[in-house]
Formats: sequence, C-alpha cells, structure tokens
Amino acid sequence: MSSQSILIVEDELEIAEILQLYLQQDGFQSIHASDGRVGLQLARRVDPALILLDIRLPGQNGIDVLQSLRAEGEWPVIMLTALTDEVNTLLALRLGADDYITKPFKPAEVIARIHAVLRRVRHSTREESQHLQIGALRIDPEMHLAMVRDEQGQERELTLTLTEFRLLAKMARQPRRCFSRNELIESCMPESDALDRVVDSHLSKLRKKLQLAGCGDLIETVRGVGYRLCSE
Ligand code: CA
Repeated sequence: MSSQSILIVEDELEIAEILQLYLQQDGFQSIHASDGRVGLQLARRVDPALILLDIRLPGQNGIDVLQSLRAEGEWPVIMLTALTDEVNTLLALRLGADDYITKPFKPAEVIARIHAVLRRVRHSTREESQHLQIGALRIDPEMHLAMVRDEQGQERELTLTLTEFRLLAKMARQPRRCFSRNELIESCMPESDALDRVVDSHLSKLRKKLQLAGCGDLIETVRGVGYRLCSE
C-alpha cells in the first residue's frame, strides 16, 4: 500500500470525488483544489507525489498552472483534457506535463497511469545518480566529477564551474537529443533569469575546456535550436 499523496486540481466536484474514492481504494492519500490558485498553494504546502491537473479551470487555466508548477518544482503532472482540447494537450506536453488523460475516462485507467508515471519518475531519479559515459568523457553526477580519458587510458578531471557541470550532465543524460537554450536555462540555471547569450557563453567556455582535454567535437551547435552532445 502506498501512502503517497496525489493533488487533484479539478473544478468539477463529481469527477474529483470519484477520483478521490479510487485513489483512496488504491492506498493513496488525495487532496483536492477546485481552481489553479488553491492548487498551487496546496502543491507548495503538501509537496504531492503527483498532480492531476484539469486543463479547463475557472480563472487561471491548467496550462498557466502547469507553467507555474514547472517554474517551482519537479512534481509529476498528468493533465486531464477533453477530446476537443488537442492544441492545449500538445502545449501541455511541450511544457513538461508527464502524461494526459482524455475525459471521459475510467477511474481505473487514471490509477494505472498514475502508477506508470510514478514508476518512470522513480526510475529517472535513480538514473540521475548513475555514471554517464559519452565517448572518452565520464561524468559522476553525485560527486560532481567530469573525467576525460586520454589515449593511454588515463583519466583526467575537468575543472568546471557548477553551471558548466550542470549543462554537461544535463545533455549527457540524453546524448544526441537537441536541447533548446531555454530548456538549458530552466534546468541548469534555475536561480537566474539568464538570457540565451549567457547559455552560449557558458557553453563556449565548456567547449574550450573539453577541447583542451581532447574532447573537441563533443558539443554540437544545432542551428536555430540549441545544442546537443555527440559521441563521434
Ligand atoms: Ca474543468
């Protein structure tokens, strides 16, 4: 049995009540907010394991709420959407929603999706502490170490700033995936309201350090989009 808490942000009371009932039967605790403002307050106060977020809400809609949530925390979010809301659903996924469920839904399906997302989140948290290897570069996220292996097989530590390390580790977790500057700012420089050219400057310094260590071609600029790591 799980005692994790799920926050339901949903203005239709009937739907919220049914969800709460099913969640309770499955061993979850649940809390309910009927609008986005209260939803955000509860998220901060309760720090839920996951948030079910309706798109059509009175006042702030679910998309706005999702943006605020993403700016403040890493809570997994499943959107509750309508069939006719395809545009908003896509937007929500782009803004970092973990999944969506279309109304009308079977409560059992919602529970199954919640378990799937929670499993995925647990898995990726575990992955975060694992070593990352890209070609001659090895990163130890827990120790904040980036090492480069030379042709003799000797490893040398790269001296990186915290931001450079975060950028490198972020991209190394998904090699070949292209990251936009915005995405890199949000996940690697959350405390600043940095501009695109600030990312460019960090990456240019990082690139030079990698070049000096013999990993010259690791960071690739994707024109008009951002950056990615390439192992060859
Ligand atoms: Ca609604």
